[in-house]
Amino acid sequence: MKDLARALGAGQRPLGLVPTMGALHDGHLSLVRRAGGEGAAVVVSIFVNPTQFGPAEDLSRYPRQLESDLGLLEPFGVEAVFAPAVEEMYPQGFDTLVEPGSVARTLEGERRPGHFRGVATVVLKLFSIISPDVAYFGQKDFQQTVVVHRLVQDFNLDVRLRICPIVREPDGLALSSRNRYLDADDRQAATVLYRSLERARGLVYDGQTDAARISGEMGRVFAAEPRAQLDYALIVDPRNLEPVVQVRSDSVALVAAQVGPARLIDNMILGAPGRNP
Ligand code: AMP
Repeated sequence: MKDLARALGAGQRPLGLVPTMGALHDGHLSLVRRAGGEGAAVVVSIFVNPTQFGPAEDLSRYPRQLESDLGLLEPFGVEAVFAPAVEEMYPQGFDTLVEPGSVARTLEGERRPGHFRGVATVVLKLFSIISPDVAYFGQKDFQQTVVVHRLVQDFNLDVRLRICPIVREPDGLALSSRNRYLDADDRQAATVLYRSLERARGLVYDGQTDAARISGEMGRVFAAEPRAQLDYALIVDPRNLEPVVQVRSDSVALVAAQVGPARLIDNMILGAPGRNP
């Protein structure tokens, strides 16, 4: 992969990397499309990264379907799919992990200890192996984008990041590989994340800027959906992920909930009062 990436990087086009864990859906493919649209030579990585899963999490049942993923990528004409084995990425004796700081300790990092250490470690490894000029991430995993931004800044990495919009089902549910854990009733209930975010955006549009009131209203949307257990619904500053008191035009609503067997996350940039973001 390093030899191939070096050859691709020496070409005319920028080298674009789309890191994924596979089980590809239209959210992933939107990143591939964006990379191609920007004229990049595209490498897609597919690697279910064990170091970002906690011991009680879904590593063993996480969907793996390399053959059909390759089929989905076929029409995009990507230059390479990098799908290493776990032993290639973490051979015997592997002993160094990247520990991101405060932006990795709240929210998902608090609920999933070690998760962002695994993310930062694998992203740094992928960047080292492929040396992309540009890397494409989804806004869907908002905190992850903040952690990766810090990683790039703090380690002086020569890669530009592109954060791409969240791709949703027609009813608003953000596409996620974990949606396949949902049965029909849970699938229906899972729209509550989007509905709570839309409620928040609507309140801001109508002039509400009190973050606590908005979070409270999001909680009420969840209270009407017994199949979902709200974990958090917060309005944060996108730079440091700290909760805000007053909503500003760049504030982001973040939500996490358990719906049946799946832990789901979603988010929305709220925009200025009276204006859509
Ligand atoms: P994953 O395979 O879940 O690690 O996701 C790989 C990349 O795809 C990450 O940068 C995600 O943020 C992005 N992604 C996942 N779901 C979506 C979505 N619904 N819309 C846009 N990007 C997404």
